[in-house]
Amino acid sequence: MSDAFPALPAIPGFAIARLPRIEFGSGALARLPDIAAGYGHNLLLVTGLRSLDESGAGKRLFAQLAQRGLSWEQVRVSGEPSPEWIDATVAAWRKRPFDCVVGIGGGSALDAAKAIAGLLLPGNSVMEHLEGVGPERPYQGPAIPLIAVPSTAGTGSEATKNAVLSVPGRFKKSFRDDRLVAEWAIVDPDLLATCPPELIAADGLDAFTQLLESFVSTRANPLTDALARSGIMAARAALPALHRQQSAAARAQMAYASLLSGICLAQTGLGSVHGLASPLGAFFPIPHGVVCGTLVASATAGNIAALEARAPDHPALPKYAEVGRRFAMQKGLNGPDARRFLVDTLRRWEQELALPRLSAYGIGQADLPRIVAASRGSSMKTNPIELSDAELTGILATRL
Ligand SMILES: [Zn+2]
Repeated sequence: MSDAFPALPAIPGFAIARLPRIEFGSGALARLPDIAAGYGHNLLLVTGLRSLDESGAGKRLFAQLAQRGLSWEQVRVSGEPSPEWIDATVAAWRKRPFDCVVGIGGGSALDAAKAIAGLLLPGNSVMEHLEGVGPERPYQGPAIPLIAVPSTAGTGSEATKNAVLSVPGRFKKSFRDDRLVAEWAIVDPDLLATCPPELIAADGLDAFTQLLESFVSTRANPLTDALARSGIMAARAALPALHRQQSAAARAQMAYASLLSGICLAQTGLGSVHGLASPLGAFFPIPHGVVCGTLVASATAGNIAALEARAPDHPALPKYAEVGRRFAMQKGLNGPDARRFLVDTLRRWEQELALPRLSAYGIGQADLPRIVAASRGSSMKTNPIELSDAELTGILATRL
């Protein structure tokens, strides 16, 4: 009888780094006061400018915090945080005995909250730890407990260990350490209800890109693969629907996909889209979600072409085909056709979701060499295949 069983595939060894405790679901925000009170009564709230303060959810939250006897200070982040802004904020608040930091907002607010929570006690400049610039001194902690509450579905920052900071025109780099991972991620899809459709499209494609890049990353493992598959299909179901007409079910699928994208990328790293996104976002005023959304189809096509030509036995190829088959809902589709279906779907999303081209942000042919030259940071290292400068230039050129 045992002959009837196919050979079992080997499971390679893997490690899963620290994750937050997670509260997910409609209305989960109401759990925040109790969770925060578990750390003490003095909170530092780090929020975006897009006014939580004036929204119904925000007003309810502030009333509940007060009712629970909590006191708080609020810091508002405008756009992507800079190292200078982080240092100034830490200097302004470090003498106060905060028991926990609560980040509520999009990726920028959560990343700012993460960096502030990490540095309020040590008090040194974040420049000492940023990857790829400065002395890159190891972070020793201690960090103040962080609770992350995303109000957009895209970056997955609530589950990751890095804070992305940027100096416009110069760099966009990460402050990264396991101790920066939030203690709690409170993911309440209701918070997406006020997101404008352009933001939903760009952020959603960021989450999708993070899931696909995690799935084919050189550091992918069976556990992250299971999560990436689940997230990819949730994003696939939610993205076009959410852009056309919001519904509670689509918001929940997208918030779930985004959370899983953060969990996966923290374990596996990313790929060529995020490698290119780093200099694009540093040199030009282009939102991260737009970079991902506008590049993901071309970059996926570029990876597939390079793998088919130079590494036809690479495990990323059947993975791309698997996603294509799931999208097409055709189990029998052969590898090349399934991969083509995946790329065609991504190109269709690009059209349907009206992703702007790079030239809309002042990027031209003459800029491509310096973008490519600065793209080989941490994300590019886990791309399934090393792409040449000419291949990366080609990916960018198709989206000018
Ligand atoms: Zn991203």
